[in-house]
Amino acid sequence: MQITARIEELRRLIRHHERCYFVLAAPEISDREFDLLMAELQDLERQHPELITPDSPTQRVGEAVSSFNTVKHRVPMMSIENSYSIADIVEWLQRLEKAAGTGVFPVVCELKIDGVSGSFCYRDGRLQNCATRGNGTEGDLITENARTIRSLPLTIESDLDMDVRGEIYTPKSMLDVLNQQRSADGEEPFKNCRNLTAGTIKSLDPAVAAQRGLQVMVYGIAQATELGFSHHSATLEFLAKQGFKLNQAWKRCQSYQEITEFIEEIAARRDSFDFDIDGIVIKIDNLSLQAELGSTNKAPRWAIAYKYPQERAMSRLLRVEWQTGRSQLTPVAHIDPVELGGTTVSRASLHNIDQIREKDIRLGDMVTVEKAGYIIPYIVAPAADKRDGSEQTIEPPTHCPSCQQPLKISRDENSATQIRCDNPSCQGVLARRIIHFITQIEIENFGPQLVEQLIEKEQVQGVEDILTLSRLQLAALERMGEKSAEKIVTGIENAAHQPLAKLISALGINNVGTVVSEKIATWYRQSFSAFLEATETDLVQIDGIKEKVAGSIIEFLKNPDNHSLINALKAWWKGPDSAQLAQMSAGSQLTGKTFVVTGEASMPRRQIEEQIKKYGGNVKSSVSPKTSYLLIGSQENDSFVSNKKSRAIELKIPIIDEFELARMLEMKIENGKFTG
Ligand SMILES: [Zn+2]
Repeated sequence: MQITARIEELRRLIRHHERCYFVLAAPEISDREFDLLMAELQDLERQHPELITPDSPTQRVGEAVSSFNTVKHRVPMMSIENSYSIADIVEWLQRLEKAAGTGVFPVVCELKIDGVSGSFCYRDGRLQNCATRGNGTEGDLITENARTIRSLPLTIESDLDMDVRGEIYTPKSMLDVLNQQRSADGEEPFKNCRNLTAGTIKSLDPAVAAQRGLQVMVYGIAQATELGFSHHSATLEFLAKQGFKLNQAWKRCQSYQEITEFIEEIAARRDSFDFDIDGIVIKIDNLSLQAELGSTNKAPRWAIAYKYPQERAMSRLLRVEWQTGRSQLTPVAHIDPVELGGTTVSRASLHNIDQIREKDIRLGDMVTVEKAGYIIPYIVAPAADKRDGSEQTIEPPTHCPSCQQPLKISRDENSATQIRCDNPSCQGVLARRIIHFITQIEIENFGPQLVEQLIEKEQVQGVEDILTLSRLQLAALERMGEKSAEKIVTGIENAAHQPLAKLISALGINNVGTVVSEKIATWYRQSFSAFLEATETDLVQIDGIKEKVAGSIIEFLKNPDNHSLINALKAWWKGPDSAQLAQMSAGSQLTGKTFVVTGEASMPRRQIEEQIKKYGGNVKSSVSPKTSYLLIGSQENDSFVSNKKSRAIELKIPIIDEFELARMLEMKIENGKFTG
């Protein structure tokens, strides 16, 4: 085949599969097969640089720039008026009906994704440039960053000259992944998806944007009427056909009743979406009616946003409790119980003493409490105008609430105040360290209450004492049967076979979380004694380990206070046995992937689940935004109905069967067994 023809074919295939994966969430080939296509194309382009075109799928990530140019929008990007109740919407529609002298239904309801608005200019079937909303008239040209968004097509079939409008956002699952990495690296986590998106889209280096997994969902065409579309819903259908990612939940509504139902339905489902929304946008569907209604100087008259109630409430700050943590004391606010996001909240985070001082939060203040998604409630700000003079300044504690010894107050390298209990025999600190150890190394049946009990009865004085607990010691505790004692001892014995990475993260070294621990364990080839010999020069050679992290590891290893623990662990830890090792080395194709298995397959379900685990995957029993694949057994046909299936479709999680799993592992299924 001619090289030019093969290159064209590869580009066509890659575009098709990118669309299947990023837009439709229904991949037809494995990641590996996709990578092979990409590698072949990159190879051919390297040999024939004259054949590289800017719209080639290999050209998504460009060079870094020093600043952004601005661009004037051909059609202004207006903001949308907000409303906060169904009554507001009814009033708005009645006002429009009066102005138009005719009925205004149907309307289109869409999700209002909480990201950064963008305008994407296409001409001659190619993405020309992309801009942020800016002040509505003029925005920043962010073409290079937007090109890295793989759900945004670089080429489309239509040759219309148009500005496609959409919302750039970061998936929630991506925020989790990035924050895990950041906290492992000792960096401040990103606050929320919106901030992360705004920061990423303004990054001067497209390589940064490419790593952050941005997405785009489009919601319209600026020149729809001029281009001959009659209805907004028709432009949405057109955009979907052109390969753009749209929010599937949009709906054409014919009545107030339908709008209300849509708002309620989305409110119930919004936590399950892999993106944040802050409301619903309602638009008049008929474009000539839209044109007739026109705009004010700020916003179009034909659209309104319904904002979901903020999960915020006011309450009184009653007292501050200082909790002993593994390394620091943290303030927790006790407030008058208040209804928030469907639950009663009586405690909220105050973050740290610096925040308390900065926001000037005082005891007795009326404060705003916010509960954002699954994050624990926190105090946003005090209402200074509601003070009566009886409020008191919050002082940091001088003595440890656990051991009553004086606390050490210092500043870390970022000049943040640190309040620590340095008493080596402090029971509060000890409890936190033991609980951390137990959760990281996964000792079963060992809860925080048992830890408290053991410390109180002086059965343990250090983390290492956990390792040698006997049945007798445990059975002597209150409310502890012999069977439970037996289970706990077995749990401790089993934990000795955990991989090295879990042991390292269980040590509780500052800045060393699960991600860093994995890297260290691989570097030292699963040898604890090799790790104990680590030097700073060694450690910084490991990809992704910074000096700060290396420093805290060395500090921990050198500190004489830790030597009895380290020696005890050397004697106790056995590492994975040969069967486990064989399993670990079977392959890692599925590492980090989470599967849910359901339906009848050509082999027992258990066998499928074992295969997934053998290759590093996780098996969970319910579908969530973190699920990578739902595996429905091949014996089920399309009419198979289950909650897992409908949830997977809703969350756009790819659905596969056991044969597809075999293909992912480059294996076959023969006589009901995986072979290859
Ligand atoms: Zn203490």
